Amino acid sequence: MMKNNLKLLLKELRILNKEKKVFITGASGGIGRAIVLAVSNAGYSVTAHYNKGKEQAESLQKEIHEKGGIIELIQFDVSDRNECREKLEKWQDENGAFWGVICNAGVSADDSFPGMSGEKWDSVLRTDLDSFYNVLHPLIMPICRKKKGRIITISSVSGITGNRGQVNYSAAKAGIIGATKALAIELASRSITVNCIAPGIIETDMIREAPLDKILPSIPMGRIGKPEEVAALAVFLLSEEASYITRQVISVNGGMV
Ligand code: NDP
Repeated sequence: MMKNNLKLLLKELRILNKEKKVFITGASGGIGRAIVLAVSNAGYSVTAHYNKGKEQAESLQKEIHEKGGIIELIQFDVSDRNECREKLEKWQDENGAFWGVICNAGVSADDSFPGMSGEKWDSVLRTDLDSFYNVLHPLIMPICRKKKGRIITISSVSGITGNRGQVNYSAAKAGIIGATKALAIELASRSITVNCIAPGIIETDMIREAPLDKILPSIPMGRIGKPEEVAALAVFLLSEEASYITRQVISVNGGMV
């Protein structure tokens, strides 16, 4: 009896969420894919972004369609300001404002600081930090006019503690935290929450070359995280239940400090 009621409640929640459109960048990557699946499973209509990973994005779209979810794809380079504005304004002209935006796309290009090239510095700062402006600026006024919404950014433990060989990445991810907190203050009176998720070491392509034997001892839980563990928090932050949580950085990192 209780199980049936719970099922009904979940069904109603999915129907309510269907009206809410959520935009997720970097859906062709490991964490983005898990976020898309979890957000779609919660009933939201998803617009999933990719850049070079057309094949991954299309296979994700197929999987969501098979489950009866609503998903469309959009492609652009988040470091290209003009392309972001052009594609996102066109999308909004046709579909209206998003309920939620999850800025997840990102890259790393590690090196010791003395050996770090200007290209590595620029590419990480442009992709991971400038994208905050490039993606959110065209989207923000339509969300503000609705006086409700959710913005979630993805930083990293590296942006909180700093990390050897990642001066560029730590700088960009620390910048995301500052930008998220400042935007949260600006939007709070409009009931729009702005929060940041800071994952630790999560099993995706990004950490393929990371020295896990050296990293594992610094993780109290003794294991790396799963993309689904990040996605679950994103779904909660999108929900009505999370409406009084804003300007926060929430870590998903197995207890790393
Ligand atoms: P992946 O390498 O698996 O995915 C990266 C995603 O970012 C891809 O979808 C990729 O798109 C997209 N992307 C990269 N550059 C651009 C660009 N110039 N324009 C548009 N999209 C771009 O990494 P993760 O899933 O692990 O990373 C997702 C986020 O989580 C990143 O912001 C990362 O910094 C952060 N993070 C990851 C951690 C980890 O341990 N994995 C830890 C902490 C934070 P495409 O392939 O289509 O080009």
